[in-house]
Amino acid sequence: MILMLLGPPGAGKGTQSQLISDKLGIPQLSTGDMLRAAVKAGTPIGMKAKKIMAEGGLVHDEIVIGIIADRIAEPDCAKGFILDGFPRTLAQADALDTLLKSRGSKIDCVIELKVDDTKLVDRIECRARETQAAGGTVRADDNADALKTRLIAYYRETAPIIGYYFAHGLLKPVDGMAPIEDVSRQIDEILSEFQAA
Ligand code: AMP
Repeated sequence: MILMLLGPPGAGKGTQSQLISDKLGIPQLSTGDMLRAAVKAGTPIGMKAKKIMAEGGLVHDEIVIGIIADRIAEPDCAKGFILDGFPRTLAQADALDTLLKSRGSKIDCVIELKVDDTKLVDRIECRARETQAAGGTVRADDNADALKTRLIAYYRETAPIIGYYFAHGLLKPVDGMAPIEDVSRQIDEILSEFQAA
């Protein structure tokens, strides 16, 4: 099964993708995590992405498309995967369609986490505080300035792909403002329809 989670920064895509991954035994592919690992390792991709990410902008399409193309070719993706944070532009969505077509597969379902924008700043600040309290490293882009840029990038570049997947009959909206367990339950219900099919 090939799934995608869509939603603005702080909507809970990472948390829900991880839960689905544990349940279905298919990997979570987070381009954000992969890019952060590249930044940490100081690879050429990481060096290109570092400043853009810290400021909340979008990394170039060719870079993220290349990362995803390599990742989905790995054996653990053969039975499916969960896309978390990719695609973020229409060009990425088109490239994904082409990539999937070339391996004879297609997206089964796009889950949209619908959230109240006014709550996103609180959520991101809360995530930063919790990470700090747990002794972890706070993301360079989990601050009010970068969040504003991330939100602008989301509405300019990513929101149009919601319409694209709706038009393809793939979009399943869920209430992302509910507690984590409730959101997870809504997603389970959607996925059970696919498993029953
Ligand atoms: P995330 O962890 O998904 O919030 O991503 C963190 C940051 O990584 C984003 O704000 C972007 O700078 C970059 N990034 C992650 N995925 C993509 C993507 N698909 N396209 C462009 N930039 C991305």
